[in-house]
Amino acid sequence: MGTIPHNFICGVIPPHILTRVAEHTTDEASGSARTTLEHMRELATSRAATLIERPSAAATAPASTRKRRNVYTANHTLRLPGKLVMSEHKTRGTDVEVNEAYDGSGSTYDFFAQVFGRVSIDGRGMRLDSTVHYGTDFENALWNGRQMVYGHADGRIFVRFTASVDVIAHELTHGVTQFAAALGYHGQTGALNEHLSDAFGSMVKQWLLGQTADRADWLIGAEILGPAIDGVAVRSLAAPGTAYDDPVIGRDPQPAHMRDYVQTTDDNGGVHINSGILNHGFYLAAIALGGETWNVLGKIWYVALTERLKPEADFADFTQATVDIAGELYGHGGGVQRTIAQAWSSVGLNVPVIGCTAEHPPVPRPTKRAAAVARLRKSSRRRPAR
Ligand SMILES: [Zn+2]
Repeated sequence: MGTIPHNFICGVIPPHILTRVAEHTTDEASGSARTTLEHMRELATSRAATLIERPSAAATAPASTRKRRNVYTANHTLRLPGKLVMSEHKTRGTDVEVNEAYDGSGSTYDFFAQVFGRVSIDGRGMRLDSTVHYGTDFENALWNGRQMVYGHADGRIFVRFTASVDVIAHELTHGVTQFAAALGYHGQTGALNEHLSDAFGSMVKQWLLGQTADRADWLIGAEILGPAIDGVAVRSLAAPGTAYDDPVIGRDPQPAHMRDYVQTTDDNGGVHINSGILNHGFYLAAIALGGETWNVLGKIWYVALTERLKPEADFADFTQATVDIAGELYGHGGGVQRTIAQAWSSVGLNVPVIGCTAEHPPVPRPTKRAAAVARLRKSSRRRPAR
């Protein structure tokens, strides 16, 4: 079935946080952060990560429509997948990380299956494998192109990496993106890749909790930040740049608008940083549309991810795709399409809405009477309150 280029490993803890911990602490946390950074680099350059095979017919044959999950333990070694400790329909044990890895991958599977009719990460029933207790001081969780890998949190800066379902769903969505659009992982393309994982990660949590857009926390990794850290999560879609501000892990660097786009060579060109701009546009559209995010917005994002994006897609390609799909599914020039275009515009991404000229003639210039009314309103605002 051939191979697709895949030269990235995304951990839930982005490199700018690990670098900060490595440089600004003197205890074992610094050593763990350094080890984690080095190991992430090794994983990204290893053969396993650079050439991820699309599943061969044998690997998925016959294409399964059943949910299949395996959870392994590496027993604090770097061996993958490790010893099998849990699989579908087996009795649960007492290891919280095993149970959370099992449940989180199941919730993500169920979300994609029930909302979009997608059978597993590859769309062909791929078994979802997870390994917990990976290494002794590997502080991250990641999708390595084949399976989920969870390191060991120190309990102080980070608690269990399996604790946030949106983190598990974020990582598994990298798998969906790998099989669906094979998006790259650098610059705007990489930030788009990150955004898709945050958007679907957040939607899985909202779907699981039955939350409408206005009730959701719009946070990624709220449950994994440790008690010693001054922050609420790893990222915030509602307010990028505000998730944490702490002497150990530093300050959330995410922008929420194109005017603050960060040009950097770190982090594959700021993929975990500039994703904040798309994240915030997504959030604004969800709030403006109201209701269950996965129903309308989720469907548009899913069609973009699985049918429209080319491997090198940038912000303009993606925002145009979402506006086009909104028109196709919910009416050209309709409320959904205009809401999404407005949300993108609010974060500095202007998308021409094609095909709605007839429905929306140019806004007439204000008449003399309208101008007079506007002046009156303005002057009345200056009056002291009664
Ligand atoms: Zn990621």
